[in-house]
Parts: sequence; structure tokens; C-alpha cells
Amino acid sequence: MRLNIACIPGDGIGPEIVAEAKKILNQLASVYGHEIVYKDLLMGGASIDVHGVPLTDETIADAKAADAVLMGSIGGNTTTSPWYQLPPDRRPEAGLLKIRKELGLFANLRPAVLYQELADACPLKKEISDSGFDMLIMRELTGGLYFGERRTVEENGVRKAIDTLTYDENEIRRIAVKGFEVAQKRRGKVTSVDKANVLDSSRLWRNVVEEVAKDYPDVALEHMLVDNCAMQLVKDPAQFDVILTENMFGDILSDEASMVTGSIGMLASASLNDSKFGLYEPSHGSAPDIAGKNLANPIATILSAAMMLRYSFDLDREADAVEQAVKVILNKGYRTSDIMPKGGDAAGCTLVGCREMGDLLADEIR
Ligand code: NAD
Repeated sequence: MRLNIACIPGDGIGPEIVAEAKKILNQLASVYGHEIVYKDLLMGGASIDVHGVPLTDETIADAKAADAVLMGSIGGNTTTSPWYQLPPDRRPEAGLLKIRKELGLFANLRPAVLYQELADACPLKKEISDSGFDMLIMRELTGGLYFGERRTVEENGVRKAIDTLTYDENEIRRIAVKGFEVAQKRRGKVTSVDKANVLDSSRLWRNVVEEVAKDYPDVALEHMLVDNCAMQLVKDPAQFDVILTENMFGDILSDEASMVTGSIGMLASASLNDSKFGLYEPSHGSAPDIAGKNLANPIATILSAAMMLRYSFDLDREADAVEQAVKVILNKGYRTSDIMPKGGDAAGCTLVGCREMGDLLADEIR
């Protein structure tokens, strides 16, 4: 297969972690007989330094022309970097918001996996972390409260702020379809999260999700109220496969799910549109404090590349190979500094840098 991938290394540790993800992709290409064509693009601070803006029209066009986009991370130290002296619409993050909009990315996928080898980093009780978990939060990204009409008014000397939460059935249907499709590639269960006991938008959400479910008889559907879901994530996270939810609930729940893994350098993400196209990036930021020191954990980006293989190219076997390599390397005790436990060398763990982690994972894929 020929894969046209646009790469946005970005800022901070971005170029280092994207280089390791390319190393893994190149290894997969040689083992499984694919051809990969990369086009490197500038975005964020790197684009500001060259073009004066965080995202050019040319970059948008190049990204649209690719089959998928693999991104590192963008942004710098928000206190000291001159990028943050610019007006808000010229700062690095403005590029990210704009490209998501331009590419029509309405579905955000964030897996939260607790690897047994990293269970010590999990803040939950041992009896809960011992059973591990592997879930994916599917969050609607372009509708709901964050995009509804809003205003602040003053009535009789009292300030009043109004935000509106709107979803139409088409917006709900397309994200629900993604949720069920992804569940088919996983363990076949969707937990649709809403607040249907209070909100009209949630009642419509529930109705439309039930309609979509009829087309996926192989996927089990359950509904859960958002407040209960927030509790269940810390009480029994192993029950979840795909959590399907609207924008604001997903924003909060996906951060909660990430935190219970305890390992920021391991968390991948994907944002998809209604075709196979997607933008794949780690959930973490550009970590300017460790940039250029070979200290970054490249695994979140490498797992994001695995998501790209699975969801944009339907290369499930290759994606499995990457995920399996990560498990094996963790099992052999190799750790970057962010996931190295205290006294880890005594426990048989070996500290490695960003490049060495990439080499180890590439070697594991044969
Ligand atoms: P951050 O995620 O960059 O870093 C938080 C902490 O985690 C730091 O101590 C960092 O060293 C560590 N860390 C993060 N990723 C790591 C990795 N792969 N390996 C090892 N350690 C890692 O968050 P921040 O410091 O709040 O933000 C830094 C910059 O990143 C800001 O400019 C912010 O706006 C930007 N940011 C970008 C994105 C994105 O591109 N999608 C997301 C979040 C933050």
C-alpha cells in the first residue's frame, strides 16, 4: 500500500518524537511491504518563526492532500516564549484550532490504557489497577456547548451570562456511527454517556444513538449518565470499551480517564472527519522543559501512528504489531524517565532516551 502522510513535527519535543514515530513506520513499511511518502509541514511556533503565522493556507492545502496527518506537538513555554507576546490569533495554538476546523475533524478518539507494567503510576487502589483497563473515549469535537450561541448581558444592574448547548440529529448520527465502527475494531461495546434525565439535547442524543445501534447488531450498547460515568471511571474502569459522548462531557471525561493511567507520555489521540482522513497526535503538549535533551517518551506519538494505520489505512495487523511491541518492550523493563519508577533500576528496569526507545521498538517489529 502507498501511504501519503503529512507530518507536522511542531515545537519543543515534537521533532524528536515524530522522528521516532517515522522510524517505526519505516520499519513497518519494510517488514510488511508498504511505501510511505512523507511531506513535512510547519505549524505552530515553527511556522511563526518562518512565516509569521502559526498556519499558512499552503500547509492546510498540503494537509488536505495527504491521506492522514501525523503531528508531534505545538507550542512553547507560555511564560517566556516570544510566541506568546503575539495577539491570540497569531499564537501557536491558534494554528491547531484552525487546522482541526479546516479538516472537518468532528470525532476525537482518546484511548486510555493501563499497562500492567506501569500499574504503579495509576493513582487508583491496587485492587482496581491490578485488573488493568483499555478504553477509548469518542468525543464529539465541533458541536455542543463550546460552539453554541453565547452572550453576557446586564439586566436591572445584574450581569447574566448565557451559553447554549445545541445538537442536531445529523451531528449526533455521524459521531455515533464512528463510535460503533471503532467498537467493531475493539471489544464490541459502546457506553453512550449523556444527561438524559435533565437535558433535551441528551434525550435526542440517546434516541439517535439507539437508531444507529440497530445497524450494528454485533456491538452491545448501554447508556450511562455522565455523573455516574465520572464515578465509574475511578471505581471500575475495566468495564469500559468505547465511551461515546458529546463535546463538554468528553472534554472532562477524557482528561479524567487519562489521569487514571498516570502516564502522560503514553497517551495517543486521533481526530477524524467523515472520511478515513484523520489527524493523529499524542495527548500531551510540547514539553519545552525537556526539549532537545533526548528525554521525551515517544510512545504516545508511536501509538498515535498505530491509530493512524488502524483508522485511516485499515492496516490492523500493522497497528497490532506496534501495540504488541510497546507491551513487549515495557515488559522487558525499558523505560524513559517519565515512566521510570523510583528505584526502578533495582526492580530490573533500564532507563533509555527517546531515540533508544524508538530503536528498541523498531527492532521488536520484525
Ligand atoms: P506538556 O504536556 O507539554 O508537559 C507537562 C509535563 O509533562 C512536563 O513536565 C513535560 O516535561 C511532561 N511531558 C509531556 N510529554 C512528555 C513526554 N512525551 N515524555 C516525557 N515527559 C513529557 O504540558 P504544558 O507544559 O502545560 O504545555 C507545554 C506547551 O505545550 C504549551 O505551549 C501548551 O500550549 C502546549 N500544548 C500543546 C498541545 C497540542 O499540541 N495538542 C497540547 C497540550 C499542550
